[in-house]
Amino acid sequence: MPRFRKIFVLSLLLAMSVTVGAEQIKVDSLRFWTAPDHTRLVFDVSKVPSHSIFPLDNPARLVIDINNASLNRPFRQPPGNHPLFSKVRSAVRHGKDLRVVLDLKTDVATKSFTLRPSHQYGNRLVVDLFPKQGAAKASSTTQKSAAVKTVENKGRDIIVAVDAGHGGEDPGAHGPRGTQEKKVVFAIAQKLAAMINKQPGMKAVMVRKGDYYLKLRKRMDIAREARADLFVSIHADAFKSSRVKGASVFTLSRRGASSEAARWLAYHENSADLELAGGVSLDDKDEMLASVLLDLSQTATKEASRKVAAKVLGNFKHIGALHKNTVQKAGFMVLKSPDIPSILVETAFISNPHEERKLRSGAHQYKMARAIFHGILEYFREYAPPDTLMALNSTRQARHVISRGDTLSGIAQQYGVSMRAIKAANSLADNTIRVGQVLMIPADSG
Ligand SMILES: [Zn+2]
Repeated sequence: MPRFRKIFVLSLLLAMSVTVGAEQIKVDSLRFWTAPDHTRLVFDVSKVPSHSIFPLDNPARLVIDINNASLNRPFRQPPGNHPLFSKVRSAVRHGKDLRVVLDLKTDVATKSFTLRPSHQYGNRLVVDLFPKQGAAKASSTTQKSAAVKTVENKGRDIIVAVDAGHGGEDPGAHGPRGTQEKKVVFAIAQKLAAMINKQPGMKAVMVRKGDYYLKLRKRMDIAREARADLFVSIHADAFKSSRVKGASVFTLSRRGASSEAARWLAYHENSADLELAGGVSLDDKDEMLASVLLDLSQTATKEASRKVAAKVLGNFKHIGALHKNTVQKAGFMVLKSPDIPSILVETAFISNPHEERKLRSGAHQYKMARAIFHGILEYFREYAPPDTLMALNSTRQARHVISRGDTLSGIAQQYGVSMRAIKAANSLADNTIRVGQVLMIPADSG
């Protein structure tokens, strides 16, 4: 990534030349985003500051000295149950510098970097706090054991990693009324996860569990750690034109995007990561190795991704406009797992005023989650991994592929089971069925 490295070096030079000037830097506010394994502090600053960070003992504190700066307004305080620190204080030093002190609850390691203006934000100083050993380790192991739930002789659950795009300091796209992508996609992701968890034999793992930023690679790692059978990333992006509308479903392309909109989206999805990763560009050697691994093992994953994507797209047709009615391809970084089938769903264009309104509606969020859920369910009904409960059940149950003229009552009669039992077994909300849809026919009438 030499282009980005150049930009990074350039911004460092800029930072140095700026701090030589005498004009005081205004520190306007402090936001913090709490993730399970770290907390990100973001200071809004009028100019890129020079700064230093060091710990103090007895009691444990973290000092952030910002040179030639003053505070515009008091800082927001963390909630009492914040895992890493209890209070933020500030003081003037040498009559011209700002000292910020955090009262720590545990030892932390830190990493800091600055961000250039983007979206609604101006210049920022970012400090990431990582708890040293102990606390973070414990929570990640409990997550793992909860995620892999194998019932003896019954087959394991199918694990779906549900990834709400963006988060924390990266709000994603925004609509004309100011709706933030990170918020609406999180709401849709939560609804989808709840539906998956209600389905016997399936389990959802939320990749992002709250309002914080995760690197794209980290998102893939979380899915892999949970041994996910599928990775679904949920977005609601913007385009230059506010008229563009509808849903699209993407799989990874290694050879370029299939449309201009796809190219635009991939650029915007990936760029936040290069910035918010803290100026650390992706390791070139790592990239080389990754691309070799991709070529070796991705053929099967690609085929599975394409099939899930087609099922999800098929279900979106029933709830409104599609942006493109075929599965799209683009170079989304987050889809690059060589071993986990991965799709990215653009639920709607938040830049379209009508779709922005729909994205804010709980009822419509539910419909979108439901379309994704049914697509996933249809896929696993046909292609459940052999060691799963769903695969075992499918050998015990009859499957009926809907053809033209079929009705739910007719099918119920044909197999001698109740409509209610068929609806329950397939999570159908009403009596609507589609040609090509696969229904599981339960053994017992209910
Ligand atoms: Zn997005």
